[in-house]
Amino acid sequence: MALMTGEQYVESMRKLNLQVYMFGEKIENPVDDPILRPSLNSVKMTYDLAQMPEYEDLMTSTSNLTGEKINRFTNIHMNAQDLVKKVKMQRLCGQKTAACFQRCVGMDAFNAVYSTSYEIDEKYGTHYFENFKKFLQYTQEKDLTVDGAMTDPKGDRSLAPHAQKDPDLFLHVVERRPDGIVVRGAKAHQTGFVNSHEVIVMPTQSMGPEDRDYAVSFACPTDAEGIFMIVGRQSCDTRKLEGSDIDVGNSRFGGMEALVIFDNVFIPNDRIFLDGETEFAGVLVERFAGYHRQSYGGCKVGVGDVLIGAAAAAADYNGAARASHVKDKLIEMPHLNETLYCCGIACSAEGAQTKSGNYLIDLLLANVCKQNVTRFPYEIARLAEDIAGGLMVTAPSEKDLRDPKLGRYIDKYFRGVNDVPTEDRMRMMRLVENLTLGSAAVGYRTESMHGAGSPQAQRIMIARQGNIGMKKKLAKDIAGIKES
Ligand code: SF4
Ligand code: FE
Repeated sequence: MALMTGEQYVESMRKLNLQVYMFGEKIENPVDDPILRPSLNSVKMTYDLAQMPEYEDLMTSTSNLTGEKINRFTNIHMNAQDLVKKVKMQRLCGQKTAACFQRCVGMDAFNAVYSTSYEIDEKYGTHYFENFKKFLQYTQEKDLTVDGAMTDPKGDRSLAPHAQKDPDLFLHVVERRPDGIVVRGAKAHQTGFVNSHEVIVMPTQSMGPEDRDYAVSFACPTDAEGIFMIVGRQSCDTRKLEGSDIDVGNSRFGGMEALVIFDNVFIPNDRIFLDGETEFAGVLVERFAGYHRQSYGGCKVGVGDVLIGAAAAAADYNGAARASHVKDKLIEMPHLNETLYCCGIACSAEGAQTKSGNYLIDLLLANVCKQNVTRFPYEIARLAEDIAGGLMVTAPSEKDLRDPKLGRYIDKYFRGVNDVPTEDRMRMMRLVENLTLGSAAVGYRTESMHGAGSPQAQRIMIARQGNIGMKKKLAKDIAGIKES
């Protein structure tokens, strides 16, 4: 089976024995949980779209391992055009869900581990690349959703992993056996873990020789013995329990994050992709982060498209669409959004081949992309709130709208232009709220800041890649200054 349908994906998730906790309770059926289900629906969209002929070129690809048709979310990018198509696919998925569709972290991990494991083998004669290709082929053939887990809790940020008072604050190897390793630790803010079949774990930062046990990368099922997760709260999450479509803003789709605990999890030898080769921890982090910073030039742009559309529709409903300042704001929003897209496309088009044969984005441009993402969505959100007006946060509930006594007052006094039903106006206001302050704000706002690395992480990379020395030389040549 090469491609799963959306329904097959949902059924496959039911078969997993995931250990999920939320509000102090074990969730026995995460697939049908009203708080979690919208996030599952977002991942399901990556399967549904791949079935549609009009999206086949973006959503599917050809496996470099088997030549078979695969979902692009399991693709190894073999040329710059693949990298461009990846970004376009993510924009499409963002447009269709207005949320984080979660499946990119695995795709970005695939491509980072692919090239890094090849280079480790080249240096040390290890077998990580073969291990990884076997795992990759398995995920491609089964069309699995794979999480990519990088962020350790990190404890005292001034201390290296081995120097922490609590040794588990970075995930590490606690036992080595002839048939594999046992790992302990946690990964925080894990996007989509509850909706994934497998996880690729990677180290979170560069490491020195004393951090040997912490420089580890592997894959395992998300329901492996010893793994459990505690779901993070989102703003307005319990509105999803109230059964009100309008009040949630986007009731069908969402994202999810969790703290995932690895409590002595056994990893067999053939699922290990890095174990102790500390100098490659930083390489793996840099590449994964680079791919995920490229990703934001697609997914956030797609969600931005929906927010711009919501602001424009709200302006229509308010009767303000012809005001010159509103028109100007509706120019500024796409300008910012398309600037992000330019960065996502540019770092892809400038991608280059690694020793393993796959393509890596231009790291400087990918970091510029993500640095802009830490800023522009905030401005786009600010403009959307400006255009929408205060009703996006003060509107009464759907229950009041449906109430026989109160409903007619709401309908009367919250109507904008006369030919648009008040209910439609409220729906659009709640969508703006959802994207800027509600549960989707995790994916659109704060994740724009901290996802794929906080702003300072990109500035470090920009400093490293910016080549100021070459630029100084250009200036000196033009100014006629000869170096002594
Ligand atoms: Fe994909 Fe964007 Fe979510 Fe990352 S934040 S998993 S790139 S949708
Ligand atoms: Fe993310």
